[in-house]
Amino acid sequence: MKILQIRERAVPVRSSLRNAAFDFGEMTTSIVAVITDRATGYAFNSTGRYACGASMRDRFIPRLLSADPETLLGDDGLIDPAKAVARMMTREKPGGDAERSVPIGTIETAIWDAVAKAKGQPLWRVLADRYGNPQMADKVPCYVGGGWYQPENDLALLQDEVRRHLDAGYTALKIKTGGLSLDADCRRLDATLAILGDAQNLAVDANAAMDLDRARAWAARLAPYNLRWFEEPVGVHAYGDFAELAASYSPALATGENLFCLADVDNLLRFGGFRLDRDVLQVDPPQAYGIDSFAKMVGLLETRGGSRRRVYPHGGNMMSFAVTAGLGLGGCEAYPGVFGAFAGYADDMHPENGLLSLPDAPGIGFERQKELFALMQELSA
Ligand SMILES: [Mg+2]
Repeated sequence: MKILQIRERAVPVRSSLRNAAFDFGEMTTSIVAVITDRATGYAFNSTGRYACGASMRDRFIPRLLSADPETLLGDDGLIDPAKAVARMMTREKPGGDAERSVPIGTIETAIWDAVAKAKGQPLWRVLADRYGNPQMADKVPCYVGGGWYQPENDLALLQDEVRRHLDAGYTALKIKTGGLSLDADCRRLDATLAILGDAQNLAVDANAAMDLDRARAWAARLAPYNLRWFEEPVGVHAYGDFAELAASYSPALATGENLFCLADVDNLLRFGGFRLDRDVLQVDPPQAYGIDSFAKMVGLLETRGGSRRRVYPHGGNMMSFAVTAGLGLGGCEAYPGVFGAFAGYADDMHPENGLLSLPDAPGIGFERQKELFALMQELSA
């Protein structure tokens, strides 16, 4: 198996969404096609991090294409994504991972798509075989990451949104918090629960926008709700603040979508007060050096006594879905109706009672996501 070409393009995500920290008015993402002599693999760099084509073109694509193809192969004669990452890391100074973990991870994920297609298997199956999945389920829990702030009629639109998700077959969702006053945010919580019911089906996400004092105030008000989790209450690398909050807030906390390498996760587990019996880890695979690196993070969590059932990868897309199913994680996120072509799953995947069935298409399955695949195909034409 040999890489012939790698193409990338920046695509606007086009969204008016807003969370507590920023809006998506300028958001872009990179779509990537890894064209091999066996199959073409595709990926995009998930949502929330801008397109990263410049470093792909300048460093990572030339390094891969200049490698002796034999040196990138595994024992099965197919490209070993871990070897491809090692090659892309040539001449990279240690540290500064966020600057390269997204472009490298996106290319790595596209390589997995090509490898799975070369095997004629869905990626989830390939990952389960490669990394071992003790409890392969035939359905995957899926929750909605939504509840963004609306400039007008926020409460009414929020309740409409909750009804829409329930009608579509979801049972659990997450809404934004920290973008308004505490009283106003609690009104959103109450409005959501009035329709959703069980607070264990509702999580809130502060998008790392709070300082410790503010997070403490929110935590004190949120605790009696006993929500499913309180996500990114404090700054991304404020491990000490996270630990302080974890010491006083009894229900689950969640974090990880802005951690980009194994050392970041190790630091969270060592110094962040992450409670292995309840807290939730949410790294985004294509943004964090790719799927092989993600699998190592899951392994580290388990080595420390945690459970993969409390790993919910960020990113409501087919990539995170394949990783969730393949590794037997707790569940995955969905973004129905937002982020344009980049939202959601294959067109024929619909949740029933909060569960998604496993698709049988080879690879990640972008081919069955018509609008997105049209963009990807333009790249490889
Ligand atoms: Mg989040």
